[in-house]
Amino acid sequence: MKFVDEFRDPRLARALLERIRERARRPVRLMEFCGGHTHAILRFGIRQALPPTVEMLSGPGCPVCVTAAADLDRAIALADVPGVILASFGDMIRVPGSRESLQQAKARGADVRVVYSPLDAVRLAEQNPSRPVIFLGVGFETTAPGVAASILDARTRNVRNYYVLGLHKLTPPATRAILDSGEVNLSGVLGPGHVTTVIGTDAWGFLPREYGVPIAVAGFEPLDILRGIAMLVEQIAAGEARVDNAYSRSVLPEGNRAALDVMNRVFEVADAEWRGLGVIPASGLRIRAEFAAHDAAGVFPVDATPSREPPGCRCGDVLRGVLAPPSCPLFRKVCTPENPVGPCMVSAEGACAAYYQYGGAADEA
Ligand code: SF4
Repeated sequence: MKFVDEFRDPRLARALLERIRERARRPVRLMEFCGGHTHAILRFGIRQALPPTVEMLSGPGCPVCVTAAADLDRAIALADVPGVILASFGDMIRVPGSRESLQQAKARGADVRVVYSPLDAVRLAEQNPSRPVIFLGVGFETTAPGVAASILDARTRNVRNYYVLGLHKLTPPATRAILDSGEVNLSGVLGPGHVTTVIGTDAWGFLPREYGVPIAVAGFEPLDILRGIAMLVEQIAAGEARVDNAYSRSVLPEGNRAALDVMNRVFEVADAEWRGLGVIPASGLRIRAEFAAHDAAGVFPVDATPSREPPGCRCGDVLRGVLAPPSCPLFRKVCTPENPVGPCMVSAEGACAAYYQYGGAADEA
């Protein structure tokens, strides 16, 4: 398959693994921020193929997983407002809130619909002019520009019954929070490819500059990831720290200016609550006052009773990289993709789902 085979060539993979083995003489601990990397690393057997000196930790890079229980409860409360249609990406529907999921709310009568893009939600609002349509805006810098564009689209088309519950989060502040916590001693970071396509490699300069931690931004094919890891172990072996780019076919130093402009036109930076990490200053996006007419949080104030995490779920620890999914006592025994206890097992990008699907028997011992 053209354009994929090139990035899965076993001969080149072996050469990169050899390069990693040669340089990683001493133990290194690397974190992949992105859930897409976690899945690819397990799916292609990269974790098992790496030398024992290279430890890979999963990070908080699953937008569904890091959505706080309180925000999910708020979304469910909005779905219960009479007349409201709550539109969401499919992954969010099954994530348990404090008392129920959006799917369970739908089963008892709330009008919850799955859409494939925020523009579909704008269309839904056009087709139902007498009903408020609220889109659940969850994601990182990759999805925020599209959601911002949907608000601009609604304004242009005079779709007044379209609203967004803005829960977007920014990745660099979360990486900073993990390093500041001192819970995990990281030697390097495998940078998220899609996020960095939007924000640019320059946005990661603080990691080497302020923390002395190297980063290599990587794509999602096996050779992309191995190349990123090779760049990291080479930097570490040489005692260097800089931003490397193993995904230059997609990522520029300055990112995607057009996407950032749309995002910044509609959203402004705000504090945000992350599951497992708590409130991180300046780590989220809220809708600017200019677009308040489309801001579900302002237009539909709802009372969400105090929220709680699913009992026994260790997703917070998994998202901070302090616990590997198979070490959660509920993993595979109680918590499965069919009966997920926490979001990390629900989401397609969740670390627990990845370990469940691709982890080896050794992981589950
Ligand atoms: S295995 Fe289930 S309960 Fe445990 S951390 Fe993962 S999602 Fe949460």
